[in-house]
Amino acid sequence: MAVPKRRTSKMKKRQRRANWKLLIPGMVKCSHCGEYTKPHMVCKACGYYDGKEIVKVEA
Ligand SMILES: [Zn+2]
Repeated sequence: MAVPKRRTSKMKKRQRRANWKLLIPGMVKCSHCGEYTKPHMVCKACGYYDGKEIVKVEA
């Protein structure tokens, strides 16, 4: 098994994590309203999926 030669420094670790924490994991922008939603799910904000209104959203 490969063993890392050096321990990852605090700075290197933090630099790496600063990047992926920035983007919300598993979130895509809704094509209808632009709200962030889960992929393959009906949008919570407007009730649209695949360009069609699936769920009516109470006003
Ligand atoms: Zn939407």
